[in-house]
Amino acid sequence: MTAQIDPSAFVRITPTARIDRERHGWRAKCLQRLIRMELPVPATFAIPVEAVRLIAAGHLPSREALAAVIGSADGLLGVRPSALNPDWGGPDTVLNVGINDRCHAILAERLGKVAADAMYLAFVQSYAVNVARLDPDTFTQQGAATLEGALAAYRDETDEHFPQDPAQQLGEVLRSMARAWDGPSARLLRQAKGAPADAPLGLVVQEMALALGPGLSGSGWIDFVDPVTGAPRLAGRFNHQTQGRTRGEGAREIYLTKDPRGPSLQDEAPEILTELIRCGAAARARLREEMKVEFALSNGALSIIDAVRVNRSARAAVKIAVALGRDGIIPPEEAVMRVQPRALSDLLHRQIDPRAPRDLILRGIAASPGAATGSIVFSSARAQDAQARGEAAILVRRETVPEDVRGMHAAVGVLTERGGMSSHAAVIARGFGLPCIVGASDLVIDARAGIMTASGRSFREGEEITIDGTSGEVLAGAADMLDPAIDDDFRTLLGWADAACDMVVRANADTPEDARMARTFGAQGIGLCRTEHMFFDERRLPAMQEMIFADKSADRRLALDRLLPMQREDFVALFDIMAGFPVCIRLFDPPLHEFLPQDREGMRELAETLAIPLSDVVRRVEAVAEANPMLGMRGVRLGLAIPEIYEMQARAIFEATIESAANGAQVVPEIMIPVVSAMREVEIVKTRIDAVAAAVRNARRTGFDYRLGVMVETPRAALRAGDIAEHASFISFGTNDLTQMTYGLSRDDAGRFMGTYLREGVWPEDPFHILDQDGVGELILLGAERARERRPGITVSVCGEHGGNPESIAFCRRAGLDYVSCSPYRVPIARLAAAQESI
Ligand code: PEP
Ligand code: MG
Repeated sequence: MTAQIDPSAFVRITPTARIDRERHGWRAKCLQRLIRMELPVPATFAIPVEAVRLIAAGHLPSREALAAVIGSADGLLGVRPSALNPDWGGPDTVLNVGINDRCHAILAERLGKVAADAMYLAFVQSYAVNVARLDPDTFTQQGAATLEGALAAYRDETDEHFPQDPAQQLGEVLRSMARAWDGPSARLLRQAKGAPADAPLGLVVQEMALALGPGLSGSGWIDFVDPVTGAPRLAGRFNHQTQGRTRGEGAREIYLTKDPRGPSLQDEAPEILTELIRCGAAARARLREEMKVEFALSNGALSIIDAVRVNRSARAAVKIAVALGRDGIIPPEEAVMRVQPRALSDLLHRQIDPRAPRDLILRGIAASPGAATGSIVFSSARAQDAQARGEAAILVRRETVPEDVRGMHAAVGVLTERGGMSSHAAVIARGFGLPCIVGASDLVIDARAGIMTASGRSFREGEEITIDGTSGEVLAGAADMLDPAIDDDFRTLLGWADAACDMVVRANADTPEDARMARTFGAQGIGLCRTEHMFFDERRLPAMQEMIFADKSADRRLALDRLLPMQREDFVALFDIMAGFPVCIRLFDPPLHEFLPQDREGMRELAETLAIPLSDVVRRVEAVAEANPMLGMRGVRLGLAIPEIYEMQARAIFEATIESAANGAQVVPEIMIPVVSAMREVEIVKTRIDAVAAAVRNARRTGFDYRLGVMVETPRAALRAGDIAEHASFISFGTNDLTQMTYGLSRDDAGRFMGTYLREGVWPEDPFHILDQDGVGELILLGAERARERRPGITVSVCGEHGGNPESIAFCRRAGLDYVSCSPYRVPIARLAAAQESI
C-alpha cells in the first residue's frame, strides 16, 4: 500500500511544539511538560491519533517520515502508547527498535556481547510475535532463547532474513501497535474503564537512553507516596544493567535509599538521588499530580524517560488530592473533583487490605460497604450470644426480617442468600454502617444442621469467614484489614466539598445513635425518620403487639398510651441532637404482621405474654397476614384504618417539640405520610393531625408550628402530585417503593434474578441501587413539576436509598430537588457527589 501519511504529522516534542492531549494523547502531553521543565528527556516524537488510525488501516508512513524520526534520534528507539486517558492502557511498549546486525556489532563493541545480544534478542522476539505474528512458543523455546536461535527461527518461519532496515522495523512496529489497539480484548478492557467505543490512540517514539553498558547504567522508577495509604514516602527501584526485560551482564538491583539488604543509590551516587527527588517534586508541581517517574542512567548520566500518574487506592486518592490542594498545586474545587464519591466508603469502614490474599468462596450483591471477619451464626439469638461472649459474628440468613434487627446489631456483618439493594437486610445494615452482602444466590444454608455450602465447600456454624460488603465477596477465614481513615484529610476534603455544594444533604436516621452519627458526618438535618424502627425495641414490642390484638379503639389507645412517652422521648432526643436542623418524621408505615411472630414457638410465647389462648394468637396472625403485604395495609392505609396510631405519634411529636423548645432546641417538626396514592388520604390525615395539634396547644397553653408533607412513593402519587401539593408543604420521593411499584418488582425478591437481568442487559443497573432515570426518574420530574406548579416553593426531595448513590444524586440536583436524604454512613459520599455536580 502506498504511504499517505503526511511526514509533518510526526512531531518532535519540544517546549514549543503544538502537542495537545486530544490529538497526541496523555503521554505525549505529559512528556512535553517534562521537556518544558528542562528535565533530561531523550528526543521524543509524537504520532497523532489520525496518523495512527491510517496506520492501522494499512497506510504505512512514508520512508521519509520514518527516516526523519530515525535520523533525529541518535540510536535505538522505544515506542509507547499514548491514549487520551492513561487509564485506558494500550499496547505494550516496544524497545530496541532499529537494532540490526550492524548496530549489534557496534553495541557489542561498546557494551559487550552479552548486552548487545540481549538487546537484539529481546527485539527479535517481540517483533516475531507482535509484528510477524509468529507462534510465541517458538520464540520462547530453548532454541530461540539465544540470539542466533531466534534469528534462525525467524528465517525458518518466514523464509526471510530478519528485517535489517530500521525504517521498515519502525513502520511495522507502529502498525502492529496501531492494530493491537483495535483488537477486541483491548477494546473491551478499555471500555470497562470508561473509554468510548471509538477511543483513539496516539503513539510516542523516543530515543532510548541506553541502560546497559559501562559505569552506573540501568533503569528504574521512583515515587513519593504509598499507593495504598497515600502517606508520603519515597519508594522505587533501580536495576543496574537492565532495560525493560533485557538484563545485561552483572544485572542486579540497587536500592534507592540506604538499605541493610544491599548497596543503594544514596550511597553510590547521592547526587543522582537528589536530582531524582528534585525531578519528582517538579513533575508533581508542573503536572499537578502525584507521579511515578521512570528514569535511566547511562554511565551515570540521568534521563527521564516517562512519568505516569501513581496508581492509588480510594483512601490514597483522598490523601493525594488533599495534599495537592493544601500545597496550593490545585485549587480546592479541583481536589473535590478528583475523588470518586463512592471511594469515600472505603475510608468510612474497615476494608480488606488490597495486598492481602483472598480465599474467595462466594459472591453476592454488595449491599453495605466495609469488611468484617467473624464466626458464622445462623440465627439472631446466636449473634446476640456471640456478642455477649465478646466474639465477632457474621449473621448468615436466607433473608432478614424485622425481628432480626437485634441480631444484626449484635453481629459484625450480615450475609443473606436472598434480597436486593433495598431489601430489609440491606437497608438496616447501611443504617448501622454494618458490612452486608445480600442476594448471594449460590449460598445454601442448612440452619438446622448448622452448615452452609458455597462453591462446593461447607462451613459449620462457628467457622470464621470474612465478608467484603464493598465488593460483595465472601472469603474463607480471616483477612488482613485496614482501619477506617476518618482523619483530617477526609474532613478537609468534605469541608471543601461543602463550600462548593449548593444542594442540602440530610440523613435517614431512626434513633438518637443514628442522628449523632449523621451529625458527625455532616448531615444538615433528618430527611427520614422511620418511626416503626423504634417499636422493635424489647420494651416496646409487647405494647405494639397488645395494640394489634386490641379489638376496640379504647383498648388500642390504652396500649398506645404506653408507647406515647417512649416515642416522645425518642423525638426529644432527635430534636436535641439535631438542634437548628430540620427533622422529618415519617408516620408508621409497615404492615402489622411484621410485629407478630411467624413461628409456633413465638406465637406460644406471645400467648403467654398477653395471657390469651394460643388459638387467639394464631387467629390474629392469620387475620393480619396478607398475600402482598408491600401492597397491602401499610402506610397511610393503616393510618386511616387504625387512626389511633398516627394520633399517638402526632401527639408524641408535638409534646416533644414543646419539651425541646423548653430545652432551647427550637424545631419545626416535619411530619410525613407514607404510601399515599390519593389526595383525600392526605386531607383526612391532615384534619386529624391538625386536631391533635390544637388539642396539645390548648392543653399545654403554648404554640408551635409544624409542617405536613407526603411521601411520594406510589406511581399514582407522582402523577397526582399537583392535587397532593394542595395539602402538603413538602413532598419527598420514596424511591425504594416508587421503584418497586413502577417496575412491579419486589424489593425483597429481586435478588433472585437480578444477576440474570443485568447479564442479559435487560437493565443496565440494579434499579434499587442506581435510580432508573428513564422510568422512575420521569415520574420524579413529572411529580416535582406538578407539585411546584400547584404550590410554588414546595420543598421537594428524595429520601429513598438512591439519595446516597452518586449517579442518582447527580440526577436529583439536575432535577432541581432541594435535598437528598440517605443513611448516615452515606452522607459524606452524598456531600461529595452533590458538590461535584455543583462545581
Ligand atoms: C422508600 O420507599 O423509598 C422509603 C424511603 O421508605 P421505606 O424504604 O421505608 O419503604
Ligand atoms: Mg417506602
